[in-house]
Amino acid sequence: MSEAMVADRASEATHGVTQHVDVAVVGAGFAGLYLVHRLRKAGFTVVAMDEAGDVGGTWYWNRYPGARCDIQTIDYSYSFDPELEQAWTWSEKYATQPEILRYLGFVADRYDLRRDIRFGTKVLAATWIDATERWLLTTSNGADVSCRHYIMATGCLSAPKPPEIDGVKDFKGEIYFTSRWPHQGVDLKGKRVAVIGTGSSGIQSIPLLAEQAAHLTVFQRTPNFALPAHNGPPPSDRAALLAQDRAAFREQGRWSMTGVPLPPATEFSFQLSDTERRERFEKLWAAGDLVGMLTQLWADQGNDVDANALLADLFREKIRSIVTDPDTADALSPTDHPFGSKRPCLDTDYYATFNRPDVTLVNLRKEPITAITASGITTDKRSIDVDVIVFATGFDAMTGAIKAIHPITGRAGRSLTDVWADGPHTYLGVTVAGFPNLFLITGPGSPSVLSNMSVSIEQHVDWVVDRLIALREAGFTSMEATETAQAGWARHMADCAPLTLHRLANTWYTGANVPGKPQGVMPYNGGVGPYRSICNEVASQGMLGFRLTGPGVAEQCNDGEIVRLQPDVRLVLGMLAQMNLPPIESFGAQGARDFVAEFNKSRPAGRPVGEVKDGTLPVADGQLPYRLYRPATPGPHAVVVYFHGGGWVLGDELSDDPFCRDLCRRTGMILVSVGYRHAPEHRFPTAVEDGFAATRWVAEHAAELGGRPGPVLVAGWSAGANIAAVTCQLARDRGGPEIAGQLLVCPVTDCRFDRASYIDNATGYFLTRSLMFWFWDIYCAPADRTDPRASPLRGQLAGLPPAYVVTCEFDPLRDEGIAYAEAMQAAGVPVEQLQARGHFHSSFTMVDVVVTSADGRGQMANALRRFAGLPQAAEQDNKQSDRTNFNAAAS
Ligand code: NAP
Repeated sequence: MSEAMVADRASEATHGVTQHVDVAVVGAGFAGLYLVHRLRKAGFTVVAMDEAGDVGGTWYWNRYPGARCDIQTIDYSYSFDPELEQAWTWSEKYATQPEILRYLGFVADRYDLRRDIRFGTKVLAATWIDATERWLLTTSNGADVSCRHYIMATGCLSAPKPPEIDGVKDFKGEIYFTSRWPHQGVDLKGKRVAVIGTGSSGIQSIPLLAEQAAHLTVFQRTPNFALPAHNGPPPSDRAALLAQDRAAFREQGRWSMTGVPLPPATEFSFQLSDTERRERFEKLWAAGDLVGMLTQLWADQGNDVDANALLADLFREKIRSIVTDPDTADALSPTDHPFGSKRPCLDTDYYATFNRPDVTLVNLRKEPITAITASGITTDKRSIDVDVIVFATGFDAMTGAIKAIHPITGRAGRSLTDVWADGPHTYLGVTVAGFPNLFLITGPGSPSVLSNMSVSIEQHVDWVVDRLIALREAGFTSMEATETAQAGWARHMADCAPLTLHRLANTWYTGANVPGKPQGVMPYNGGVGPYRSICNEVASQGMLGFRLTGPGVAEQCNDGEIVRLQPDVRLVLGMLAQMNLPPIESFGAQGARDFVAEFNKSRPAGRPVGEVKDGTLPVADGQLPYRLYRPATPGPHAVVVYFHGGGWVLGDELSDDPFCRDLCRRTGMILVSVGYRHAPEHRFPTAVEDGFAATRWVAEHAAELGGRPGPVLVAGWSAGANIAAVTCQLARDRGGPEIAGQLLVCPVTDCRFDRASYIDNATGYFLTRSLMFWFWDIYCAPADRTDPRASPLRGQLAGLPPAYVVTCEFDPLRDEGIAYAEAMQAAGVPVEQLQARGHFHSSFTMVDVVVTSADGRGQMANALRRFAGLPQAAEQDNKQSDRTNFNAAAS
């Protein structure tokens, strides 16, 4: 669109007269355009405003050489209209900025969107007026706007970050920002050019700037991971997939974790050999697929630092193989953050560019910039004269465009800048408490930049517009998030932290790139599909967490938190619900055992330990099998006798294998998992007597097993924790063995079924109340259940070994576990508790599936080490997960 047409369009809004619309939108990029289209179709009057001269948003401004998308264009497109999809064909796998801009222009023309967009118009201030329940917007160009709903489609990366380097004003040469590249282009022929910044913009532009400049000097603060794009025509395999079933392809993208329909890797790094890992890496390197490289290698690459390091090593090897000067290769190799924790880049000839004689890399980690001078850039080691400086220094991401563009004043005169002073607070990343009828498209707290933006944008727009339609139909005129819902969303966001490694890098994802900006992972990292289902649930649960008001209708406020489960627990339970399994108890004892054995085959294999050895141990009337897990470290090691879960009916010495391996690795102790006998063949008290006998035998044979002589420790999960607890009581009463400590994970401690947790968590959390009834019935006659060997809570508790008791919020057994911990403590036993918020009965044994439980398992291991008089284990899980996940109550 010509500048004259822009001026015409802007002047259509008459000065001095307020323009009244249902909805005002800021931004005319991917999000703004789709909003205008959907709102108009839904019968709302709408005006969009954009400072730019035409549509395009980020693609309007970022015109630097080499600018392209880095998600395959086949995925980076609108999907709301199949006819639009048929009408446009991308020419490349990763389209250039001009082609994407043409596409957005094509979309604007096709739906005649420009007529409702005021270009060259900045919103100067937005104020909520309580009396009218409307937003009043003052604008830089044309009439002010009064709107019922105000939607920020401002993009996540649209507020450029100032250079933050002294002396920029003194520079006598030319200065350019990649984010505001001149429309007419820049002639760099024969010039000495400096580029500051090696993020996506720098890495995309540097090879092309090098081709034009007489000499290019790249000032790099943090080396980034870059993968060759291998650009070309859209890959035929994915194009064929799309053509085959367009709707299914799009739907798969919508429910995926990233917004791109690629199935995630299922094998874990430790299940693959070096050769297999290398093959996978080489394949994705050759494919030039960033989302693939981020998700397809091995299942733990995105959340486990060690698994990620394997991948980072392969990257560095590649850099060394391309860059001929070893010092330069070294400087270009990222070492301070895991792959994917900072946004990795797609490049074309980036690393090879540093082999050119006319390109120099300045490593700012070794020689920081001290100032920009009239003639160039000075570091603490030298001065480099240049004619042009290109700032590829990035953006005040996520919040910059929302907060800094203009003052937004909500209810009771509260400004968004003040409300967000310590970081952004949102509900779903879409709304903010205290700011009625204000919506953010891909705001902080939404998957946004951790996803395929086109998919996230469509989801947000659809969700918001669908809500506005529903409000209108019900007669409501305002919608506002509650503080409870917003606080719950913040907690859920924190719970999601261990799912990825983003928290471990200094990046714009966390605000670390802007001096003074509050720090925290801003985008939602729980995945696009899960996020979509949460948004849908908010609506289906009567707009949970929103207050709806309107003239002539009763206020509606269904307050609460939308996600109380840990994010991965929610996924596991969702998958189980989808499987629609019959109740386990309906299989009968042997059928249930077969079912569990089959079920366990599908879980990730346990992690490697030094040695795994099977054996048998004697009890009064036979032999019990056991499996011994030995750490890789030199012995002798402290010994833990472990009892598996399974309601005294199911499981065996192998059935908690991943958990035993994990505890062995974390504690550095030998674990002896005992195959005690089960009901109905062997009813109460066989299991506990087996447990006691096995513990005594292990204690007596500790040295032969490679263990440290002296007291042993006991541990167990569920019914196994019942056996561990009872074993401690029996050992105290029967003259040994000496037990240094007990770890009880979700223990069965009492035969009562009327505690609140039995009622609140009766169904829906895998271990059901009726399954527990069944277990008790098979195991123990009603008359025996009050025997302390069945219900240790009813026994004498003084003089027991120190205990670490773990309970899970969504577990029928929660309250009896807490009761046991409290009763032991009252009896003078040293007790620590971990009350795991948002977890279910199986959270801690589902190693590598429920990754949010890793921190808790680290705490358990440390408790065992304390009991054994050993120093605390290395705090690796402080890095691995977020301690705020748990309300650990140490007593
Ligand atoms: P960026 O990733 O934030 O990179 C900025 C670079 O400038 C970093 O290397 C940073 O170093 C450096 N820097 C910032 N301030 C500096 C200073 N005062 N002194 C020295 N160096 C400084 O910004 P970006 O490259 O514009 O990319 C931002 C995001 O936009 C990308 O991550 C991506 O999501 C999106 N993007 C996408 C594409 C695409 O292909 N589709 C292209 C461009 C951008 P530190 O790392 O040390 O802070």
